Amino acid sequence: MTEIFTGNFTQQEPIPEEAIEAAVAVMRSGRLHRYNTAPGEAGETALLEQDFAALTGARHALALCSGGHAISTALRAVGVQPGDRVLTNAFTLAPVPGAIAALGAEPVYVGVTEGLVIDLDDLAARADQADVLLLSHMRGHICDMDRLMAICDGAGLIVVEDCAHTMGATWDGTPSGRHGRVGCYSTQTYKHVNSGEGGFLITDDDAVAARAVILSGSYMLYDRHLAAPGPEAFEAVKYDTPNISGRMDNLRAAILRPQLRRLDAQCAAWNARYEVVEAGLRGTPGLTLIDRPAREHFVGSSIQVLLMDWSTAAIGQVLSRCKARGVELKWFGDAEPQGYTSRYDSWRYAAHPPMPGSDRILQGIVDMRLPLTFSLEDCAQVAGIIRAEVGAVWQASNPA
Ligand SMILES: *Cc1c(COP(=O)(O)O)cnc(C)c1O
Repeated sequence: MTEIFTGNFTQQEPIPEEAIEAAVAVMRSGRLHRYNTAPGEAGETALLEQDFAALTGARHALALCSGGHAISTALRAVGVQPGDRVLTNAFTLAPVPGAIAALGAEPVYVGVTEGLVIDLDDLAARADQADVLLLSHMRGHICDMDRLMAICDGAGLIVVEDCAHTMGATWDGTPSGRHGRVGCYSTQTYKHVNSGEGGFLITDDDAVAARAVILSGSYMLYDRHLAAPGPEAFEAVKYDTPNISGRMDNLRAAILRPQLRRLDAQCAAWNARYEVVEAGLRGTPGLTLIDRPAREHFVGSSIQVLLMDWSTAAIGQVLSRCKARGVELKWFGDAEPQGYTSRYDSWRYAAHPPMPGSDRILQGIVDMRLPLTFSLEDCAQVAGIIRAEVGAVWQASNPA
């Protein structure tokens, strides 16, 4: 009898009751727009920004309508112009090159290592090709940030961090998003807090923060922000910065504030699940687990493994056998973009020469979400199924 897993890989937890009550209160007030405040009232969006700045230790925080919009706002705020080249990861998701393309700028990809992080040797070699690096902590893997910042500082590269998968994570004790000039986050349903859509950016830089607030669609109401610089910073940029609406609203902010308060506990719950799956997969023939450095405190909201140098056909068999047993795996090596996954060579608006070293790794990356609706027993069962199916395909292709 073959065991079949019946959990749903895209089912997140419900929104906490406290957050639902806060949302209902906003709806009852009718004041959903962030600048629609009663006398003396701060508004949920401004309060959320204050909470997020405190949580990350940043001087300034801005809430936005999506993670992708947070990234494009950050790139504009640090001065990226149409036609500029922006360095970014070859291994990332489509909204990352998309945010660069939104500005009429051009992505230049930096390779990926077997640790699934940006290849710092490749970065050092390309550092003179752009003024900005959009660093994607893709799937929560954080590179050696000390070395990365040394390379970027040495080359005068401004770093914008895409922390869509690292909200709550740290490198050597520093929160992800606090190494570069700007850190960007997503609060979309599949990330670490859930407002359907939404995003943040954080920065210590007054001029960048002031430009970002105006870019986000503040009109001249920027004095209603609680985590933005003082009026002088806005005086310096207000005539030269376009208003590109992409604000967050009070309804989303209201449901996010209680979620931020329990972020640490949620991250611990993800990591408990990650550990069970990782332990269940350890030692599977032909399957490589990803080494996580001691200085990286990651959030295991998904897990990746490598089926290094496996044929396309064999990986396809693993995916379909797992799927038949209820286990949904994603494959970053697929030549055809599927669902949420695509590769740098599928983003043809930003054509790039082939990267054979990265292609070899992308070809082997298999990815799985770990929603908090799975119990630890579920995670053990899922790992057992993957282990059995990888093992069966491996044995058939490598007979002793
Ligand atoms: C989800 C995601 C984004 C964009 O976030 P949205 O809120 O969906 O726009 C950016 N980068 C990565 C790596 C992501 O996974």
